[in-house]
Amino acid sequence: MRRPLIVGNWKMNKTASEAGPFVWLLSDLVHSTDRVEVVLAPPFTAIHAAKQAMSPPPPFGLAAQDLFWEDKGAFTGEISAPMVRDLGCDYVILGHSERRQHFSERDDGINRKLRAALRHGLGPILCLGETLSEREAGQTDDVVLRQLTHGLEGLGKEEVRKVTIAYEPVWAIGTGRAASLAQAEAVHERLRETLIKTWGTEAAEGMRVLYGGSVTPANAGELLASPSIDGALVGGACLDAEAFARIIQSA
Ligand code: PEP
Repeated sequence: MRRPLIVGNWKMNKTASEAGPFVWLLSDLVHSTDRVEVVLAPPFTAIHAAKQAMSPPPPFGLAAQDLFWEDKGAFTGEISAPMVRDLGCDYVILGHSERRQHFSERDDGINRKLRAALRHGLGPILCLGETLSEREAGQTDDVVLRQLTHGLEGLGKEEVRKVTIAYEPVWAIGTGRAASLAQAEAVHERLRETLIKTWGTEAAEGMRVLYGGSVTPANAGELLASPSIDGALVGGACLDAEAFARIIQSA
């Protein structure tokens, strides 16, 4: 049985000064995280403040929203895996559709970032998903399986089991239109089959496959009850502590 994982992607929201009060409020609302792993992904500038606001033992883990594949050097504006690790992050979100869309990220670069994350002990959360036009053209499986296999290219069984997959249909992100349970399950099952076929049952069975795209307190219960959905990557709804706490409770 895989422990559910709920990740709150703050995107480019909340300053360092706003992070602390938010984490205090969320800690008050979420009483136990024994059965569910909860991870917050603030912007780089607020990671330290979010960590400082957690009284030990920290109730929530931390993720960065991206990183660069080199460890250090002349790469102005970039943040490396060792830097993210040093801030106290355990995870990093990679290949989010907003990065693919606005920052021209491609599968080969995402694969380099993912391998850098693993080298430095970070758990990559690899995002993938089809656009509306790809879905309407019947290309959903081709697109997500290509993103999966290229994103994970070159990884052995020991490495791949440390990766979390987040299926996030692009048309569902920030639109208020989540995938139906049947749509999400169909893709999750294809992803799981491919993971098993490529890396074997033992490695693949340990990997969590999350759903993301307009998850709210209203739909989280149904989605998270599915045996093929191991948790959620939450954007908009994670910015409201009460809504996010309700999603965590659903898990
Ligand atoms: C996301 O950004 O990963 C996401 C799923 O956003 P939202 O929940 O707002 O659709």
